[in-house]
Amino acid sequence: MTISTNPHDDDKFHEECGVFGVWNHADAAALVALGLHALQHRGQEASGIVSLSEGGVFHTHRGLGLVGDIFGDAKVMAGLKGRAACGHNRYATTGETALRNVQPLYADFEFGGFAVGHNGNLTNAQGLRRALVKRGCLFQSSTDSEVFIHLIAISLYTNVIDRLIDALKQVQGAYSLVALHDGALIGARDPLGVRPLVLGSMPNLGGQSSWILASETCALDIVGAEFVRDIEPGELVVIDATGLKSIKPFAQTASRFCIFEYIYFARPDSVVEGTGVYESRKLIGAELARESHVAADVVVPVPDSGVPAAMGYARECGVPFELGIIRNHYVGRTFIEPTDQIRHLGVKLKHSANRAMLEGKRVVLVDDSIVRGTTSKKIVEMVRQAGAAEVHMRISSPPTTHSCFYGIDTPSRRQLIAAQHSIEEMAKLIGVDSLAFISLEGLYRALGQNGRNADKPQFCDACFTGDYAIPLTDWPAEQAHAATPELLPGQ
Ligand code: SF4
Repeated sequence: MTISTNPHDDDKFHEECGVFGVWNHADAAALVALGLHALQHRGQEASGIVSLSEGGVFHTHRGLGLVGDIFGDAKVMAGLKGRAACGHNRYATTGETALRNVQPLYADFEFGGFAVGHNGNLTNAQGLRRALVKRGCLFQSSTDSEVFIHLIAISLYTNVIDRLIDALKQVQGAYSLVALHDGALIGARDPLGVRPLVLGSMPNLGGQSSWILASETCALDIVGAEFVRDIEPGELVVIDATGLKSIKPFAQTASRFCIFEYIYFARPDSVVEGTGVYESRKLIGAELARESHVAADVVVPVPDSGVPAAMGYARECGVPFELGIIRNHYVGRTFIEPTDQIRHLGVKLKHSANRAMLEGKRVVLVDDSIVRGTTSKKIVEMVRQAGAAEVHMRISSPPTTHSCFYGIDTPSRRQLIAAQHSIEEMAKLIGVDSLAFISLEGLYRALGQNGRNADKPQFCDACFTGDYAIPLTDWPAEQAHAATPELLPGQ
């Protein structure tokens, strides 16, 4: 048996990608590397940077691994010349993890070079790809994002921006793009704005502004850029020598930002869609406490992502917040072949019980989500072995009953414990004395809404509801399943 010590193999949904772009800065590629480093939580398998120097010359470096390993070499950075650059972090979901799938993707067109990095997932890419291959397009990768390149190539428009808009009008799904061509940095968000994208600026030595595009504001902070605004759903921004131009090529529609960004994906120090993520998580924790209070001696977060919700929970119910589980931050991405005696080592490599905080106590464990339930079960076991008198688990998201098709790495419904079992059954399987999730209504309330507007939900919440706002054209069976609220166990 093999145990993964990959810190990201933690039974969580995973964000697939982060994007970052710079226009008009002498250290453009270095800023992109820093930005990608701040966005490492959005993708840990591969990264790439494409830069643009005088005369429309593009420079590219891509690699498998973490940003620091790929761009830590001064020679690599020296090769990424120019005053504009874009970059991408990848967590593979479509296409195997191979160098040819690492973004930004780059192609030479008759109008010059064009690079694009994509955060999100297209839901009609397979159909588009089949049609494009029939027309003679030669795909170089297996990632869904490559359809952008071919749709631009075959577009009959002459202007590169018109060609990109032509391509965007043919794709379905979630996308936040950062693209670069000889003459402009471009940002684009899908009409529902499912994935985030923000605009920042910073003064440069020439007294002009440098412009930044990034998945999250935490990446603006690291380079010292000011947050300007969110790119709006359905908006393209074109940043060139004349300044910034906003184009809105789609009919306006109600946005459906991913609600899971608030719960887990975004970094806590980011501000998404005008709301601070850290504070949102504390408010969600407080709402969870109001909904599912239980008598306890101590509130313990499952680190690190459960920490702000646990703080909010503890403050709301007046029970001490303690770090009863300590996370080891130095677990590498190696694999070991354990014997039976060390079979349970996996979880202990990442988490240790802080016995002094747990022994003899009634413990409320707060986590952000349960996906398969495998890690939760091991953590509960560990807390009990450390002497906890009772273990109650509280989850700061509703039960995840459906897969995500919009840019998040998720198992199929068959593997989602909440799609297969009732809450009582899950409590037994995980081994807790009680288990409760925040309600969907409670989650919306914590995010400042008057509950969920059933006719026009304010967020994408499909992984809790099966309400897929963008058609799952490549997965018609999944769309049909979504209409069935519950799968029977074993189905
Ligand atoms: Fe986010 Fe869930 Fe919607 Fe995916 S399905 S975009 S994870 S809310």
